[in-house]
Amino acid sequence: MGNLRQVTVVRHPLVETSLVALRDVETGTDAFRRHARLLTLILAFHVLEDLPTREVSVLTPLEETTGRVVDRSVIFVPVLRAGLAMLDAMSDFVPGSKVGFVGLERDDETAIAHSYYEKLPAQLADAETIILDPMLATGGSAATTVDLLRDHQANHIRLACIVAAPEGVRLLDERHPDVRIYTAVVDDCLNERKYIVPGLGDFGDRYFGTT
Ligand code: URA
Repeated sequence: MGNLRQVTVVRHPLVETSLVALRDVETGTDAFRRHARLLTLILAFHVLEDLPTREVSVLTPLEETTGRVVDRSVIFVPVLRAGLAMLDAMSDFVPGSKVGFVGLERDDETAIAHSYYEKLPAQLADAETIILDPMLATGGSAATTVDLLRDHQANHIRLACIVAAPEGVRLLDERHPDVRIYTAVVDDCLNERKYIVPGLGDFGDRYFGTT
């Protein structure tokens, strides 16, 4: 990928193992869902690893002690519908996190994304806003989502995906160089139908069983 600076490829034996299961055409819906969740849990560690914390006191069954908890407002924004697949695993880690929704539909002929639904929390300006979209293909949906979040005053935006294409990474780098991308892999290219190759097919169809 050259030296595109905003991509973190999360390398971990368990991520790679789940990725193989997700890619495998023989993997059925139940196993696909399980591996999507497992992989997202590990991704979450990396996406959220630099969140600020504050000290709190806690009473154990033995005595009072101190610990640290996340001290940042976190907003997850799954891009409908495939982004929903990453929501539970991510948000489980962050008590009090909020969720916004963006519905984008990709025209199969032109591969251009348009928004058909938006519901975002107030107060995006100071929050860490994490876009969830498992397949970064052309980058059109991701860039459109970032535009939309910025229109709502979001200042700190990251993107968590599972498979990225170089084309999508490049587009996001051009249009939104400050948005860091976290992914399990950067694949080879897009095919003529704008699917990621080798990829894993249509993520939403495989996750929701609509193939
Ligand atoms: N969306 C998918 O689900 N798969 C791709 O390969 C590209 C976009």
